[in-house]
Amino acid sequence: MEVFIEPIGRLMNEFSKLPGVGQKTAQRYAYRVINMSESEARAFADAIVNVKRKVRFCKVCGNFTEAEVCNICATREKSVICVVKEPKDVIALEKVHEFKGVYHVLHGVIDPMNGVTPNDIRIKELLARVGEGDVKEVIMATNPDVEGEATAMYIARLLKPLGITVSRISRGVPVGSELEYADEVTLARALIERKEI
Ligand SMILES: [Zn+2]
Repeated sequence: MEVFIEPIGRLMNEFSKLPGVGQKTAQRYAYRVINMSESEARAFADAIVNVKRKVRFCKVCGNFTEAEVCNICATREKSVICVVKEPKDVIALEKVHEFKGVYHVLHGVIDPMNGVTPNDIRIKELLARVGEGDVKEVIMATNPDVEGEATAMYIARLLKPLGITVSRISRGVPVGSELEYADEVTLARALIERKEI
C-alpha cells in the first residue's frame, strides 16, 4: 500500500479486515470517507465504537443484545428452543415469522479437523437450560453440512435421555448450504416439516 499516503493506506488497511473487502474495494471505501463531511465521518467512526461498547451476548441464549437478557428470551414462550450455530442464524429464522419459541446460539459447531470440541461451544449452557424443566422440544437448526449434522446428532444424544423431543429441521434447506442463504419459504418449510431424531 506504499503508493498511498499514510492516512489513506491506514484506512484502507482497516477496511480490508472486513469480510469480502479486497484492495480495490478498500480503496473505494477510503476515498468515499475522504469525501464525507467531518460530522459524517465522525458518525461513521462512532457507530463502530458504539457497537463494540453496547452489544453483548444474552446471558440466556447467547444472541446479541443490549440488555443482560435479549428481547426474545424476555418475552417469548420458553417450551421450545431452536438451536443455531451463530447469531446471524437467529436473524434468518426470525425473518420467516414461523418460530414462536426461544433460541440457543452455540457460537460454533463441533469441528475436530479445526480443533473445535464439544467443550468449545455452548452445549453445557443448553443442557443447563433444558435441565431447568420447562422445555418440551429442542429443534436442531444447525446448518445442513457435515459439521452441522454431526453437532445436531451429538446434542440429540445428550438430550434424548432427558425425555424431551429433539427434532431436526427438514432437508428443505439444501445439503451443505448455510441457513442465512436459504430463502424464507424454504426455511419456513424446513422448520414446519422438522423430523424427530
Ligand atoms: Zn436471549
